[in-house]
Amino acid sequence: MTREKLAGVLPRAALDTGAALEQIRPVCEDVRDRGAAAVREYTARFDGVDLATSRVPARALADALAGLDPRLRAALEEMVRRVRPVHQAQRPADHVTRLGDGAQVTERYVPVSRAGVYVPAGLVPLPSSVIMNVIPAQVAGVGQIAVASPPQPGHDGLPAPAILAACALLGIEEVHAAGGAQAVAMFAYGTADCAPVDVITGPGNAYVTAAKRLVAGTVGVDAEAGPTEIAIIADHTADPRFLAADLVAQAEHGPLAACLLITTDPGLAERTGAELRPQVAAARHRDTVRAALAGQSACVLVDDTAAALAVSDVWAPEHLEIQAEDAAGLAARVRNAGAVFVGPYAPVSLGDYLAGSNHVLPTGGTARHTAGLSVLAFMRGIHVVDCTVTALAAAAPHIDALGEAEDLAAHVAAVRIRVPGADLGEHSASLGASPRTPRPWNPPVAQGRVGQAPAEQATGQRDATGPPIRPDLAGRSPYGAPQLDVPVRLNTNENPFPPPPALVQAITEAVAGVAGSLNRYPDRDAMGLRAELAAYLGHGLTARQVWAANGSNEIIQQLLQVFGGHGRAALGFEPSYAMHPLIAGATGTRWISGAREDDFGLDRDRTVRAVREHRPDLVFLTSPNNPTGTGLPLAVIEAVCGAAPGMVVVDEAYAEFAREGTGTALALLPRYPRLVVTRTMSKAFALAGARVGYLAADPGVIDALLLVRLPYHLSAQTQATARAALAHAGTLLAAVADLRAERDGVVDWLRGRGLAAADSDANFVLFGRFGDSHAIWRGLLDRGVLVREVGPPGWLRVSIGTPAEMAAFRIALTEVLDSTQGGAAQ
Ligand code: PMP
Repeated sequence: MTREKLAGVLPRAALDTGAALEQIRPVCEDVRDRGAAAVREYTARFDGVDLATSRVPARALADALAGLDPRLRAALEEMVRRVRPVHQAQRPADHVTRLGDGAQVTERYVPVSRAGVYVPAGLVPLPSSVIMNVIPAQVAGVGQIAVASPPQPGHDGLPAPAILAACALLGIEEVHAAGGAQAVAMFAYGTADCAPVDVITGPGNAYVTAAKRLVAGTVGVDAEAGPTEIAIIADHTADPRFLAADLVAQAEHGPLAACLLITTDPGLAERTGAELRPQVAAARHRDTVRAALAGQSACVLVDDTAAALAVSDVWAPEHLEIQAEDAAGLAARVRNAGAVFVGPYAPVSLGDYLAGSNHVLPTGGTARHTAGLSVLAFMRGIHVVDCTVTALAAAAPHIDALGEAEDLAAHVAAVRIRVPGADLGEHSASLGASPRTPRPWNPPVAQGRVGQAPAEQATGQRDATGPPIRPDLAGRSPYGAPQLDVPVRLNTNENPFPPPPALVQAITEAVAGVAGSLNRYPDRDAMGLRAELAAYLGHGLTARQVWAANGSNEIIQQLLQVFGGHGRAALGFEPSYAMHPLIAGATGTRWISGAREDDFGLDRDRTVRAVREHRPDLVFLTSPNNPTGTGLPLAVIEAVCGAAPGMVVVDEAYAEFAREGTGTALALLPRYPRLVVTRTMSKAFALAGARVGYLAADPGVIDALLLVRLPYHLSAQTQATARAALAHAGTLLAAVADLRAERDGVVDWLRGRGLAAADSDANFVLFGRFGDSHAIWRGLLDRGVLVREVGPPGWLRVSIGTPAEMAAFRIALTEVLDSTQGGAAQ
């Protein structure tokens, strides 16, 4: 069902804005040229009143509010109470994207300075229109808001009292008695009475719409308002009385209103027809209703709800009601509509007044590309670009190439005058890329060639735009998994179960126990904790073979500080834990990126060959691996230990989640004095917030670490907390068993859905493959589920949460996949 096929079949009123445009052009030009005098003349001619000024006196606003019918006032106040929070939630947050140290783009949302809201008078005044337009502008933070509405001869030439009252209720002080094209021109060009605005919003007749189109180059305008319309998707479960009532309600807006009933049930069409007859006859505006229903309205019979959705999407209605089985499920699949009203008890009339949603919605099929009025009509995102000299130097070779390709030599010169002649092509492959592969934001800057004189470098003299960081850190990105406040957070492999109450109590007491001696430094060697960690690990280990720090990240950092550093290299097999190369880089260690096999495992011989070829000072093996979940056979680890000339670090952060049969490298320690096994309390012990990581290795390794650790690095509270948790290991590991079972269930479920899921020995699952994994990630986030965009292209990682969280994940993913026709899974 395509747009082309249905064009001309589905009814829609034609609106000739073009003809109106020619009529209003001289009016607008006259107001532009003569200002207030022209507005006064057109007001006299079209509205029949002569006003010395368009500005409504403050007294009139106050009087209108005082005279407002209390019932209407209460209703307007309730409307404000609902509309405001919905629009507050729309306000976009500023965000910063760091593209490497020293290069960043901030998107800053800034409201326009002055907005003009047009409120038509029509046959009856619409105070709801004031609220729907003014509140988004106020929430956006617009400094000045002016309202214009046609003068009413019966009200001393002032706008309708209900409109003035609504303005007063919202604290609007600047109201103009002006209507039609002359009001729009007054807003756009300014007059002696009214300063020009930046944005004009608000509905109006064909002349107002045409005038907004004319001035659109001068000011921002909202979407053009055409005749109102409704589509209703209904099946056999719908109540024909409700359907008829909603069709009549829409039709009473005017003879050009369009109503489309799209149904799978021929019987329902007949029943609705029968209901319509008495309801139309009883309608107050029955002539208007009849004209609208006989004109551009229709009933469309379809085979199923999928076809109903397709018809509706092609028509792209301003309002779409869904009165059918699984209305919410269908609503989630709608692609084109101004607003969707779900189920029998969310009629459009609710949306017109009190749903809290905005009732200024796109008409005439423009819902295909335009949203209803929102705070964004009154704001703009401004990109603010920051760049240090080192980051500019890193970008410069690419600007050279682009400027040359586009024959814009002055562009290149404007960069090179700042960072002359930096030839960055032959920098080392420190992130594993081949020397000839250009890597836009990551190239470590070659020593001494960043446009600084050597003397400047030697003294570390500041550049103009940022602090003088080490050149080899230039262009690197910091770690930054999104920490978003969403209901279901499954993105950082945390343990979803909080510490049980007994442990919370034990931690509280343990921390209280050390609080009284915090004037003293803690045990800098953490002997008690190390002894207990050794006992937990088993394998005959003692405190002398165990070391603890603030998270295994700090453990990894200390290892790289001692065994890596400038002039040394570390080898890892990717995709793997992204902090390994990042920490290596931070310690000046060159990172060599080896590859995993297609199934994310490691082939023993190929791995050994890579170790022999690169002869790294450290090899990192992650088992179970993050983000793939893959455990390594001990045979591979042992082969690497046999071949490696330096240290072998096996990162076992997720060891406790491994399936039966996946061994731990702890078993190899007695035979390999250069083997280090790192662990963490962040995962199995549900203690990510406490920051406790540890390792097991030969005592000689630990003696070496003492050279780089900071004095007293592990606080007394941290040590006390970790020891309390170790005492509850039994309870905590029982929860780990539950998580393992949940994980295996998720893997089966994903595969049952026809997706790929990597075998996992960890508390997360890598799944895919999607043509557009970002769209899937976004779709899940829109449904309150945050997973991680990590791993090879097309894959996503989900951490195992509580059963309820995983149920939410499955529901959300099902919806996303259904709405993207299978998620374009590859
Ligand atoms: N190693 C791996 C493989 C990890 O995935 C993580 C954290 N996600 C860590 C180490 C670091 O954990 P922590 O610093 O919390 O101990």
